[in-house]
Amino acid sequence: MLLGLAAGIIAAAALLIQFRIHLTNELEQYSRLPAHSKPVRGDSLVVFAPHCDDETLGCGGLLAVARRNNARIRVVFITNGDGYRFAVGTAYKTVRVTPARCIDFAYQRQAETLRALEVLGLDSSSIIFLGYPDRGLARMWDTNWSPDRPYVSPSTRVSRSPYRNSFSYGAAYCGESLISDIERIMESEWPSDVYIPHPCDNHSDHYATYCFVTAALKQLEQEGRIPEGRTRVHTYLVHRGDWPVPKGDHPEEPLSPPSAMTGCDTRWTSLSLEESISAAKRRAIRQYQTQTAIERGFLMSFARSNEVFGTMRDRRVATVKDSVLSVDGRPEDWHGIAPVIVDAVGDYVVAGMRKGGDVRAVYLGRDSHFVHIRLDCVGSLSRRVSYSVNFRGVNAAGLARSLTIKITPGKESRTEGIFWAWRKNVMEVAVPLESFPLHDDLFVQVLTRYAGLTVDNTGWQALSKTTPW
Ligand SMILES: [Zn+2]
Repeated sequence: MLLGLAAGIIAAAALLIQFRIHLTNELEQYSRLPAHSKPVRGDSLVVFAPHCDDETLGCGGLLAVARRNNARIRVVFITNGDGYRFAVGTAYKTVRVTPARCIDFAYQRQAETLRALEVLGLDSSSIIFLGYPDRGLARMWDTNWSPDRPYVSPSTRVSRSPYRNSFSYGAAYCGESLISDIERIMESEWPSDVYIPHPCDNHSDHYATYCFVTAALKQLEQEGRIPEGRTRVHTYLVHRGDWPVPKGDHPEEPLSPPSAMTGCDTRWTSLSLEESISAAKRRAIRQYQTQTAIERGFLMSFARSNEVFGTMRDRRVATVKDSVLSVDGRPEDWHGIAPVIVDAVGDYVVAGMRKGGDVRAVYLGRDSHFVHIRLDCVGSLSRRVSYSVNFRGVNAAGLARSLTIKITPGKESRTEGIFWAWRKNVMEVAVPLESFPLHDDLFVQVLTRYAGLTVDNTGWQALSKTTPW
């Protein structure tokens, strides 16, 4: 009986937290955001969509405005959505989801894209399909980086693009191939504006798309293949908890970013859509019939009177004199150093219940021997939560190196050579410079877990280049 009572209390607390998150998101809708500047003639836009429909959900109105104003437009689809097995089963009214059906389904999704973008005024010459594996992009970013270790899609059972209309037909399913495709496209477009998924989007293909495009752009700028500072990077959000609220078709309602993400690293802007444009976006969303058949309410909730876009604040590793930062769990010596990540707090039920795993901010500083990490959580750190800080460096040759630091307070860390300490809600870690992925482009992610559940995930965040390593 006691167990039952405890379970009841936990469930009630979870429901209350979920209700509060929902309510704050509903209220956020009516707060005002600065205006997003409209694309004009002479602008060159490249929109990257992980799947066939993200471009319309996140940027459909923007694309229609850009088309009307005669801006140059390319829409690049990283995958053809061939790994959504439930949708394949629904489309074929079968439980036998074979690789051949997944591939055939991908062509159906491409056809929907052509129809949707036609509604927005674009023809097939603006569209590029890359043909990488749906649900495989994060693996290509994390593990399957080189062509001798390609990712094998469990849906299509192939490790290279089987799609005849791919940008690089037969490209190996690996990070190197994808980054080189993106670089080739960007180099020929010289975009003034790039639109990519927000790094805190929950869907792994979405945040991986942010990583690949950001890494490619930094490389091109560093090598002088695109003039530095020419390209503005904008992000759009599709998957984040139960956002957007309310679900369903509410074309008169405004759209705002999730409430918890408004005070963090992103500067949000809003593009208000004229009635004819928002009506076109609604019609475009409806072209995605394989998707609306499953989650119509979710898709239609992007047909609003505006769209929201975010730009990320410039973040870099601070350079400090030796012995300024000590590893003692006391944050005072970080005075004057800006965080590299300011993370949303309290926006998930698990994070709301395990505040010691809810990341508030991450700081990075380097001296001549160590890279120092400081991690601040909402509540006191917990011995039952594991804290992972992951780094990924990509260099000019497209090579990638990783470092994973996993710490559970009270236990030995398995990452060799590091020093760490924790006190109240702060953890400090020092990594010897020689173990650090000393590459030009640096990405960082913090992941906390409790009892097999993710408490918080900051998403992979791209940092600006600092002084040479
Ligand atoms: Zn998607």
